[in-house]
Amino acid sequence: MHETAIAYEIIEIVIAVAKQNRAKRVNQVYIQAGQLRGIVPEQLQMSWEFVVKGSIADKSELYVETIPTEGLCQNCNKTFPVKNYEFKCPYCGSGQVDTVKGLELQVKSMELEFED
Ligand SMILES: [Zn+2]
Repeated sequence: MHETAIAYEIIEIVIAVAKQNRAKRVNQVYIQAGQLRGIVPEQLQMSWEFVVKGSIADKSELYVETIPTEGLCQNCNKTFPVKNYEFKCPYCGSGQVDTVKGLELQVKSMELEFED
């Protein structure tokens, strides 16, 4: 289950940012995950509950936004949505396609709590 590895990756970033900002707690975390990462949001959320235990992000909520896959045709230079992993340009039929979206894995924002 690679969701656990991803959850560990995210929690590391989250704790680093929270410390930098001298936050007391992390309440919510919003991430963007590219479709090609093959993340199952429900599984990632389950892993999240496990990896945050005992940290300042304990009991925080994780929100996953899936970014659809987008290709860029090397032949005609157009971008298009990639469906069903079909990396073929719908404009010119070329199979030489770069992935421009769909591989993201980033923390978009988080809600921190500070000492008053
Ligand atoms: Zn093309």
